[in-house]
Amino acid sequence: MKNDSIIARRKLLKLGVVALGTGVASKVIDSSTKKAGAKETIIALQELDENSTPEEILEELIKGNKRFVKNRPEAPNQDYVRLKEVSGGQKPLVSILSCADSRVPVEIVFDRGIGDLFVVRDAGNIATPEEIGSLEYGTAILGSKVLMVLGHESCGAVKAALDNKPLPGQIGSIVAAIQPAIDRANQDDSEEFYIKTIKANVLLQIERLNASPLLYNLVREGKLKIVGGYYNLRTGKVDILT
Ligand SMILES: [Zn+2]
Repeated sequence: MKNDSIIARRKLLKLGVVALGTGVASKVIDSSTKKAGAKETIIALQELDENSTPEEILEELIKGNKRFVKNRPEAPNQDYVRLKEVSGGQKPLVSILSCADSRVPVEIVFDRGIGDLFVVRDAGNIATPEEIGSLEYGTAILGSKVLMVLGHESCGAVKAALDNKPLPGQIGSIVAAIQPAIDRANQDDSEEFYIKTIKANVLLQIERLNASPLLYNLVREGKLKIVGGYYNLRTGKVDILT
């Protein structure tokens, strides 16, 4: 019976039906409407579909970021129904290599929920062998059709690479993985060199991902799109770099 109710909900959502008071869809309640005593409106969510193209999935991802930037999140797939729905298996349509920075909470930034994003995080969003292996798993095995490397404004790992000072423990290994981006940062335009290096680092890590035959073949076959993103800490907006 539980499965039936989940399927029924899915159908409602895909049809774009606005359901009132079903208690299963995520709620988006406008506070001013609530004060006015109007009925709570439960907005149907446009969901990612495994038959969608990489371009359509990327578009949907960007839409979620736009909702976040406008402070109008729909918080899709964050309820108990979704929890149960994906408890038996995951099919995340997007994989993301993001910085571990606490100011870049990936699901929140893209207004997605449980089972939507396969997220690999480390300081500096660097593609080391373990990260590449994880992302190969997220794409080739779990079926993600979009792979985003997400850098961000004021990245401390990139700053450490620019500062080039001795670091304790194994932190230096992160800096070493970012270092080549410094030479690649274009010094000809007016953008601040720090920002340019952050963006160059995203492109550098994408190059490393493309060096994986598994990922490269998925891209060549049109089954995967690899993109770069730059997260603006002050606005919440993700700019697409590639
Ligand atoms: Zn960072």
